[in-house]
Amino acid sequence: MDIGEFREFGKAAVDYIADYFETIRNRPVLPEIKPGYMEDLIPAEAPLEGESWKEVLEDLDRVIMPGITHWQSPNFHAFYPTACSFPGIVGEMLSAGFGCMGLSWIASPAYTELEVLTMNWLGKLIGLPEEFLNCSQGPGGGVIQGSASEVTFIALLAAKEKKVTDLKAQGTSLTEAEIKGKLIAYSSDQSNSSVEKAGLLGSMPMRLLPTDESGVLRATVLANAIKEDREKGLIPCYVVANLGTTPTCAFDSLEELGPICQKEELWLHVDAAYAGTAFVCPEYRYLNNGVEYADSFNFNPHKWMLVNFDCSAMWVKNAKYLVEAFNVERIYLKDQHKGMAPEYRHWQISLGRRFRALKLWFVLRIYGVEGIQKHVRHQIALAKYFEELVSGDDRFEVCSSSMGLICFKLKGDDTLSEKLLENVGKRKMIFCIAGHHNHKFCIRFAVCSRLTERKDVIFAWNEFKEAADEIFEVKNQ
Ligand code: PLP
Repeated sequence: MDIGEFREFGKAAVDYIADYFETIRNRPVLPEIKPGYMEDLIPAEAPLEGESWKEVLEDLDRVIMPGITHWQSPNFHAFYPTACSFPGIVGEMLSAGFGCMGLSWIASPAYTELEVLTMNWLGKLIGLPEEFLNCSQGPGGGVIQGSASEVTFIALLAAKEKKVTDLKAQGTSLTEAEIKGKLIAYSSDQSNSSVEKAGLLGSMPMRLLPTDESGVLRATVLANAIKEDREKGLIPCYVVANLGTTPTCAFDSLEELGPICQKEELWLHVDAAYAGTAFVCPEYRYLNNGVEYADSFNFNPHKWMLVNFDCSAMWVKNAKYLVEAFNVERIYLKDQHKGMAPEYRHWQISLGRRFRALKLWFVLRIYGVEGIQKHVRHQIALAKYFEELVSGDDRFEVCSSSMGLICFKLKGDDTLSEKLLENVGKRKMIFCIAGHHNHKFCIRFAVCSRLTERKDVIFAWNEFKEAADEIFEVKNQ
């Protein structure tokens, strides 16, 4: 493909995306196909001779579109949002166009420098204490990782490094292997699956402690677990607090958990993957009170802050523990600029680095702080509206309401709500998933797409109302 063809192909692809967004509202949110559908649509072998880009692009409608779940549809209310904005898309495109690999400062200085600066912007925007920022005098700083899962795992490895260093400095008689074999971590039973996975990957058992009826991990529960484990000869090391849990968007209190972590010398990591974006709005920052106790903090601009996947923002109070955990030098990586800019490869798992800061920069500049605040407030208002609709029907109950997520159910036995969700799912007009609230089945309604409007909320509610009518009609016959 030459430059001329690339121009045509690229422009046609942008038009394709624009057409997709213009028609997305009319597409059923869930695909109609069955597993294995694609096998019949494409040959078993790759083509020997290259094909024209036009033929390939045409196949998007035939092969790909039938198997797309429309996450950006205004009728998508499952999981949490995955951001997709035009500035974000263009940022991704340009970054692919540069084709660099930011494995050191000199490997592409703009990669590192824009990341340092945009992470300062972002940290200030959500009100993080100065000590987390790259622009502070201290050893703290921010970095963009690929996912919250990676961040929780990386922070766990840093916590492990710190614990070993601290115990050795205190003159422990244990060997490094003995220390590592006794380490234990804590989070709540509401934490994301990735938290448990971080424990598995990092060979540190992760105790998922019971929460109260609102899904919050209480200080006494954590303190008792730590005491119990110390009595067993284990070494408590790492705590993951949740600001915005996946099931119900519940918020642990950092002011409650922080002092325990400080007293017990545990690394406190904050997982605010979804809800962290809300701290862009000053009225929600109180939910982050106590963040000064945290050793690391994470939220995903790729969830709610309009930056396309992947963009997971991580800040640490002391980057030394990351760098010490991950620093492996080779002659081919030597850089005469050492110490003048962060070498982000030491802050992450992979060696190569994407130019994620570009799309973040585009979103921050093109939306502006006010644009992002407007987006967050609008989505929360839509969720509140859905809550009002549910509350107005006395067959239903609202189980929880937080940020852009409402959990609700039909009153009575769980099987009624299970049936309701199943029936709505069969119609494929909206996409919602199940959750648990206080150990009971509930339906999660999340405002996800930036295209969702009040009329879409009414549409979704009518889907549930009609499905409920059917259930009660059958029951009463
Ligand atoms: N933490 C929370 C609270 C989440 O809701 C999620 C995903 O929804 C994650 C972590 C995992 O995020 P990622 O896909 O970036 O690893």
